[in-house]
Amino acid sequence: FLKGKRALVTGSTSGIGLAVARALHAEGADVVLNGFGDETEIAKLCEEMSAQHSAANLLDVGEIETMMAEHGPFDILVNNAGMQHVSPVDEFPVEKWDAIIGLNLTAAFHTTRLALPAMKEKGWGRIINTASAHSKVASPFKSAYNASKHGIVGFTKTVALEVAQAGITANCISPGYVWTPLIEGQIPDTMKARGMTRDEVINDVLLATTPSKKFVQPAEIGALAVFLCREEAGNVTGANWSIDGGWTTH
Ligand code: NAD
Repeated sequence: FLKGKRALVTGSTSGIGLAVARALHAEGADVVLNGFGDETEIAKLCEEMSAQHSAANLLDVGEIETMMAEHGPFDILVNNAGMQHVSPVDEFPVEKWDAIIGLNLTAAFHTTRLALPAMKEKGWGRIINTASAHSKVASPFKSAYNASKHGIVGFTKTVALEVAQAGITANCISPGYVWTPLIEGQIPDTMKARGMTRDEVINDVLLATTPSKKFVQPAEIGALAVFLCREEAGNVTGANWSIDGGWTTH
């Protein structure tokens, strides 16, 4: 149902963004990938999805402007690229703070301001921002991440209000722990460090805050993004959709 629609998914060379790109492609959208990684791997992804790729560094406003001009206009914009750093506030590296706010929050402002004029002209658009359970609750030592993710929700609500009558929706998706190679790779070390079994590490450490005791799968986030692009979701706007196994209910 997305034939003829053009979608940019930032940070889509791995993880959640890649799953969202695949899900949009499966519905017929023309997908533009963005993100870093091995050139051969990225070329394979482009071939798989008949996609274009922009290597724009989203910390550079000039590179964002070039990406939007060269690959747009877009009907669907998924602001997904993000990064994390874990450190007490009083030791938090200043450049890490700037980079996290820059990538997780400010980059979405730039892509959104550049995508909106064409969406307004067409009278149709979908903006989907990957926030996090950390847009609703905090964890210690993640000050920049928590601030950026709470911030993207406020930004998304504002955009939703501004374009509420223009056929454009803006929403956040807020995952809990998503099963990615990065998380899987941490398990053996944690087993060793804590003298735990694999199941204990998964349930008592990684999923300690997740009532369902299940990781979110990247494809589940893709499915939610696809729903938000449907005509039936035209009245879903300014929302922050949890997909976190119940984490943020308490
Ligand atoms: P990931 O590390 O697998 O992917 C990040 C993507 O962003 C990659 O494609 C990377 O190349 C790209 N990227 C990084 N810096 C960039 C830059 N400066 N310019 C352009 N692209 C850049 O991460 P992920 O786990 O898939 O996370 C995606 C989003 O989901 C992030 O916003 C993250 O905060 C959020 N999230 C992740 C989880 C989780 O458990 N993995 C949970 C909640 C929210």
